[in-house]
Amino acid sequence: MTKIEIYKFGGASVKDAESVKNMAIILRNRLRKNMLIVVSAMGKTTNALEKILELRVSNQDISENSSIIKSFHIEICKGLFESGHRIFSQVENYFIQLDKMLDADVTPQNYDESYDQIVSFGELISSRIVMEYLCDQGMVCLWQDARELIMTSSDYRFAAVNWEKTKRNCEQMLRPKLEQFPIVTQGFIGADGKGRTTTLGREGSDFTAAILASSLKAKAVTIWKDVPGVLHVDPKVFSGAKLYEELDYLQAAQMTYYGASVIHPKTIKPLANLKIPLFVKSFLEPDAPGTKIHATGQKNPLPSIILKRKQAMISFRVTDFTFIEERHIHQIYGQLDGLSLRVNMLQTSPVGVTIIVDHQLFKLQKLISSLDKVFSIRYNENLDLLTILNYEEGGWGHLTDGLEILLEQRTRNTIQIVTRNLNPVKEAENG
Ligand code: ASP
Ligand code: MG
Repeated sequence: MTKIEIYKFGGASVKDAESVKNMAIILRNRLRKNMLIVVSAMGKTTNALEKILELRVSNQDISENSSIIKSFHIEICKGLFESGHRIFSQVENYFIQLDKMLDADVTPQNYDESYDQIVSFGELISSRIVMEYLCDQGMVCLWQDARELIMTSSDYRFAAVNWEKTKRNCEQMLRPKLEQFPIVTQGFIGADGKGRTTTLGREGSDFTAAILASSLKAKAVTIWKDVPGVLHVDPKVFSGAKLYEELDYLQAAQMTYYGASVIHPKTIKPLANLKIPLFVKSFLEPDAPGTKIHATGQKNPLPSIILKRKQAMISFRVTDFTFIEERHIHQIYGQLDGLSLRVNMLQTSPVGVTIIVDHQLFKLQKLISSLDKVFSIRYNENLDLLTILNYEEGGWGHLTDGLEILLEQRTRNTIQIVTRNLNPVKEAENG
């Protein structure tokens, strides 16, 4: 293992001038050579850029939205820099480039490719502001374009990483620079073989940190968040959330699979493969220990309780009085695969199959129309999927009290329940 350490700061940790100052305070005694800082777009910038693109593709006026996003960044700079600082012309320049991109043809046909060229500005601008501010504060660091490091396929918006090329870039280009200076780079973005900008999927900056950590065989990754670490329940949904001091890679990966939003689902695997520990810490309480995710090899005594909303339940029944056979399941999964729809839960009966998937409007319709000649199909939308990982027999049952249960499954470790209108804050104490 090397001495390289990676810190990732998400949108919430750079959402205004105060937050950027706070980030600099965190880095004051921590920043050093061999440290790589990965930053996301500031606050809700990615959503705002998506909105502009949406307006643009439907030929609506974008001027108001564009100026809001520009003044948002300029205001942050005013809170951080003296007037006349070069950051102002740099940011200005980014917005000129962005306007040019938006002037070009954006059509439904080239939507995904345009999306990546445009939405990536959020990370480019944010990382530039952060780097300039750190330098101003006497923490000399370099700015690195992530598109020179992370090589991907041309599957715009969901680009797949070319690990071999990425590793080579990291070893040959990044490591020597890191030996000299700390570096600030962007999360979420990469480049394809044609040199076009790509993105790794929404919230992908965590994954960027993991890709770079894996490519450099880093010593550790720290994700700085607005929560104290990984909690055993989502505090937005349940009260009584307790902090995990440590968590095994497997449990963390399962939590993200079932919908815990604390870490991006793809983040764990590259780290687990190389046993690189992942720390999740609070940028509000930087000295608190947070959560360490590593190979504990143990089941945590605290279960994980995860709620995933916007689920669709689809039931397929055979229509000819035969029983469900493997080929039926094969057929359904074939279609799901083609649509990149992931099954969150599956149940079979003699004459039918029921699946739970994330509700994605067009995909659901496509799925149904591709199979409605073979099966009689019924579906419900807007359901909630509650997963309890590592539950203990006898405990946690109260969480489901009074719920309308549409489907339930229990294995040795996991309870899953499909319900609707789950009350936002329910006490998650075991009792
Ligand atoms: N800015 C991107 C997003 O909001 C990536 C990230 O935040 O991780 O999806
Ligand atoms: Mg973000």
